Amino acid sequence: MPEGDTVWNTARVIGEVLEGQVIERSDFRVPRLATSDLSGWTIADSACRGKHLLLRFTRDGAAGRTLHSHLRMDGTWRTYKVGERWSGRPAHLIRVALQTPAAVGVGYHLHELDIVPTAEESRLVGHLGPDLMGDDWDPAEAVARLGRRPERWIADALLDQRNLAGIGNLYKAETLFLRGLSPWTPVGEVPDLPAVVDLAHRLLNSNRGRWTQATTGSLRHGEANWVFERSGRPCRRCGTTVRRWTGGDHERITYWCERCQPGPRPPTENG
Ligand SMILES: [Zn+2]
Repeated sequence: MPEGDTVWNTARVIGEVLEGQVIERSDFRVPRLATSDLSGWTIADSACRGKHLLLRFTRDGAAGRTLHSHLRMDGTWRTYKVGERWSGRPAHLIRVALQTPAAVGVGYHLHELDIVPTAEESRLVGHLGPDLMGDDWDPAEAVARLGRRPERWIADALLDQRNLAGIGNLYKAETLFLRGLSPWTPVGEVPDLPAVVDLAHRLLNSNRGRWTQATTGSLRHGEANWVFERSGRPCRRCGTTVRRWTGGDHERITYWCERCQPGPRPPTENG
């Protein structure tokens, strides 16, 4: 599940391999960028903002450009050595390939792919709240933004990237479990909102630099999470069957333990 930590790790891996490299050939396989050509441009920086990836390019005498992409549920970037087989994903999912003398960066199933002047990046990411993985993380601002709609379910508010940027379904479910909060608690009734924000920040950052999104302290497969994707199985803490519910903004899935997370119930039953 690509959330803020995954995107941060992706940006770092691309940066380690491709930063400073000059693009020899670019291949865009989305209609709107089909005629775009980045050959001759240097990959200057690989950055992220929330769940948005920003590859920045420079070229002598030209204003910088930024390639924006969003991984959503299933997008990935891979890097391959020159001549190495692109074995990551099926070829029909390739959306962009950037060939350099050292390596090639290949983006699979990317969303919102766009090239903008670097000076205008804010058009794409300016709406985002404080970035949980960012050097400029601002917890007080995140709490203030969450508090603007006190009637909203905390589960929906945490996913709204305008409040704070980087949380997806996994960290939402795990943060609410660990704080003992029903996902349907109105934001205004959350007893300690700063503690919720602080916990989400610590969970994402604890997985900085690795691909396992562990929230339990265990990195072992099948043991890394408390409730996420564990519906029908016993709660690790109390043994009650973990449940799932689909709904709210964007019809997202919520996993929770009704004993460890008392409070408001879902408005319907759809298990
Ligand atoms: Zn429980």
